[in-house]
Amino acid sequence: MDELFAILDVTGEVQAKQAEVITSIAVMRVMLQGDLPQIDIGPHCSDPYECSFCGHCWQHIPENSVFDFSDHGRPDSFALYQQGILKMEDVQVERLKWRQKLQLDGLLHQKNHVDVPAVQDFLDSLWYPLCFMDFETTYMTPVPLFDGTHPYQQVPFQFSLHILEKPGSELRHHEFLAPSGSNPQISFLQSLLAVVPKVACILAWNQVFEKSRLHELAETFPDYRQEVYALTENIRDLMSPFRSKYIYHWQFDGSYSIKAVLPALVPELSYKGLAVNNGEMAANTWQQMRYENDEGRIAELRLQLLEYCHLDTLAMVRILEKMREMVGGFNQ
Ligand code: SF4
Repeated sequence: MDELFAILDVTGEVQAKQAEVITSIAVMRVMLQGDLPQIDIGPHCSDPYECSFCGHCWQHIPENSVFDFSDHGRPDSFALYQQGILKMEDVQVERLKWRQKLQLDGLLHQKNHVDVPAVQDFLDSLWYPLCFMDFETTYMTPVPLFDGTHPYQQVPFQFSLHILEKPGSELRHHEFLAPSGSNPQISFLQSLLAVVPKVACILAWNQVFEKSRLHELAETFPDYRQEVYALTENIRDLMSPFRSKYIYHWQFDGSYSIKAVLPALVPELSYKGLAVNNGEMAANTWQQMRYENDEGRIAELRLQLLEYCHLDTLAMVRILEKMREMVGGFNQ
């Protein structure tokens, strides 16, 4: 504890500020007796933090508004709002960049877009064995959860890995889930390195996340540094063709998150109905297991975590199959 906190006596400073507090409370009481201030919505609603009154002040903003334009090149939403333009569909198409035109075209006409040569180039850059990898991590806590980790570090405690050895081969699955409560880092790393083929092409969704976690582990366990860096060299990002808008489906709603892409491209697979269905829930569930004494409940939570992470990598397998169908190279 001494390494994390410095204990200082600030009684004098606090006492010196007490008079200020009394004055501030008096000012606030007067303010509360007055009329509601007429302040329109603006960037101040989310900068530096999301205001808790957004639900009230933003009620007049319709669904699919100018604030829903996403990605690089999106128009200045507040400038449009100040001109009285609230709905996406009321923006003149000529004022939009190509990414936002795709989004608007998708919204108004359910139009999809596939840049076949660009998708083909991406597919051509992959090789076998082909792995689909996903990590779950602890949430970012100011006080580190484990010795040797730093504030706000996201420590991986779970992975799912699907492997295709060669075209048409049977899909293999490996997974790891550390017991909650103890530092999972070394067992996570050793378990992963034991199952990823050395020369595999590894697909992740938003590769920077998995790469960063692996580089942190490499710095913590230098004996594995070379092996880990060799592995991260082979990671490719399955999200990139979607972020680059090589593929855009109107149901993405401007997003390229796997949670938006999967239901549009592979509706037969779904996160709906899973007890754990996002990364934050996974982090919370793993922490919850730490405080459970009931073995049955712990087994149930473990299963929920395993189901969620398994779906994340299976989703990538199926999305890649869909991409191959789009360019006519299915299962090559
Ligand atoms: S949401 Fe908050 S910051 Fe924005 S106008 Fe309302 S009170 Fe002000």
